[in-house]
Amino acid sequence: MSHDYDVIIIGGGMVGGCLGLALSQSSLRVAIVEAREFSKKQSDSAGKRAIALSWGSRCILQQLGIWQQVNDAAMAIEHIHVSDKGHFGKTRLSADSQNVDALGYVVEATEIEAVVAGSLKQSNIDRLCPASFLDYVVHDDSADVTISLDGNEKTLSCKLLVGADGGLSKVRERGIFELKEYSYEQHAIAGLIKVESDVHDVAYERFTSEGPIAMLPHFDGLYSLVWTMPSALAQAVMQLAEDEFLDRLQSRFGQWLGELSLLGKCQTFPLSLSHVPDNTAERVVLIGNAAHQLHPVAGQGFNLGLRDAAILADSLMSKSDIGKVLEAYAKHRQLDQALITGFTDNVIKLFSTDSALFSVVRNSGLLMLDNIPLMKNQFARQTMGLGSRLARLKKVG
Ligand SMILES: Cc1cc2nc3c(=O)[nH]c(=O)nc-3n(C[C@H](O)[C@H](O)[C@H](O)COP(=O)(O)OP(=O)(O)OC[C@H]3O[C@@H](n4cnc5c(N)ncnc54)[C@H](O)[C@@H]3O)c2cc1C
Repeated sequence: MSHDYDVIIIGGGMVGGCLGLALSQSSLRVAIVEAREFSKKQSDSAGKRAIALSWGSRCILQQLGIWQQVNDAAMAIEHIHVSDKGHFGKTRLSADSQNVDALGYVVEATEIEAVVAGSLKQSNIDRLCPASFLDYVVHDDSADVTISLDGNEKTLSCKLLVGADGGLSKVRERGIFELKEYSYEQHAIAGLIKVESDVHDVAYERFTSEGPIAMLPHFDGLYSLVWTMPSALAQAVMQLAEDEFLDRLQSRFGQWLGELSLLGKCQTFPLSLSHVPDNTAERVVLIGNAAHQLHPVAGQGFNLGLRDAAILADSLMSKSDIGKVLEAYAKHRQLDQALITGFTDNVIKLFSTDSALFSVVRNSGLLMLDNIPLMKNQFARQTMGLGSRLARLKKVG
């Protein structure tokens, strides 16, 4: 039986877009269905969020042939400094000790989306946009996917449907997937910060009793802030006058970067953990935020989703039977997804409490990490996105 497409990807965000790019290296017929035009997304302030890319993600973007363009808009992280307010434990990871040029990179989400969208335009992938996924039905040898395009309903057939439609995934909702959800009842305040210090290659993770603070190097001597705290407190902090806001931030973050000042307005994001442990079903798979949505402070969400996309592309290019593709995909992704989801959740819970017992555990953990090179290397590998099997995509460009 002939199908309209081999693969239909719902969602052309960073993860769905990268899957499309990876598959453009194959002879598979692929369509991406995206609800929002790129020009409209660009004006969203949420798109300005800084994404910390791991070394592993750099390797995948290189294989997709877009690393050079992403790198033009990126800042390198050469050191990661982890500390706990009011306690003695701290640790530093460095690129030198890991024998890499950088531990990771920081890029605005819209910059990555712009590069991906530009490359997709020049590829053989059909991009249906603005078009919205409505529903799907699975048959023995195909899936029928109904979308709304130009105000009309249209049904397309494919061998595999991929849900890359983000945290509120409709593909997930229409399927038989079990979503496990946990709300941290926290919000993250994100914004750009001017710093007094001329240190510009260090990323800071600072844990406080109210929640963690991440400061990532950004362009032009700026730092990108992700400051997490209980939701009600975040609302109150957002109402503070600028000098009160900065006093509070400075007292929580400390003097690692000298005096801090604000550039523009901050945004808030609600924080939750949601994941679908079993994210493959007959002729359907969920990837990226549709499969797992993590707390942003650990900077792992997109990195994890990009590895989903790379491994799925790898499986699709090496096997023709969709059952075998999904089996191989699940086998290679389950451990990494479970590890990163569990790791992020444990770190947030461990570091977001002021209990004396937890504070002893986390401080001894940080000190041990600093003093035992093997543990530090393992932690660095996980943070750099090298803890799991990497995909073997063809190199292009
Ligand atoms: C403040 C903050 C900081 C973060 N920092 C980091 C970081 O440092 N490092 C990191 O790795 N991650 C970070 N993340 C997480 C990262 O942003 C996400 O993991 C990533 O954006 C997920 O990409 P995605 O493509 O899976 O989903 P999305 O980016 O949500 O894309 C989904 C796409 O699907 C489309 N869509 C939705 N519904 C439909 C439909 N019905 N039909 C058609 N299209 C549809 C949407 O328009 C969208 O384009 C951060 C997140 C936040 C909020």
